[in-house]
Amino acid sequence: MFDYFRPTLQAPSLDRIVVEQLVRDGIKGLIIDLDNTMTPWNDLEVGPKVREWFIKVKAAGIAACVVSNNKKRQRVAVVAERLGIPFVFGATKPRRRAFRAGMELLGTGQEDTAVIGDQLFTDILGGNRLGLYTILVTPINDREFIGTRIMRRMEKVLVWLMKHCAPAKPFSPKIH
Ligand SMILES: [Mg+2]
Repeated sequence: MFDYFRPTLQAPSLDRIVVEQLVRDGIKGLIIDLDNTMTPWNDLEVGPKVREWFIKVKAAGIAACVVSNNKKRQRVAVVAERLGIPFVFGATKPRRRAFRAGMELLGTGQEDTAVIGDQLFTDILGGNRLGLYTILVTPINDREFIGTRIMRRMEKVLVWLMKHCAPAKPFSPKIH
């Protein structure tokens, strides 16, 4: 059960994800969360480091889109348009259809798409359910939607459980 909540990679922020590593790992498309991953919650400002990171991503031939659970179309559209990337709003993550919609926009598949987000219960769980490459980033700040704040408490419990109660990986002999 815990495996669904384990990201492939972790990074302190979006702009600290090493683009060269994504290229090495065969990633061609990125499904990126908006609130507290790209910008502070309900904020339209994209920081200069994040902008520069998107330029690097583009130069590496990796496509990107925003997939946000935020229901305000205008809010998601403004940020996505500033970066010149497509978007999905009101996305219902961790439902799989949210990620499938992102892959459709990107023209990528299960083996070459990465999900980037700040929440275990939406971004990481959803991406892992589809077998995608998942990257957990530290949330930009503490200000967020009340429902998200409750989720954060649950995340803390989950991380504690993963640390203390996760069983060792089962031994799986390979038969030749
Ligand atoms: Mg978020």
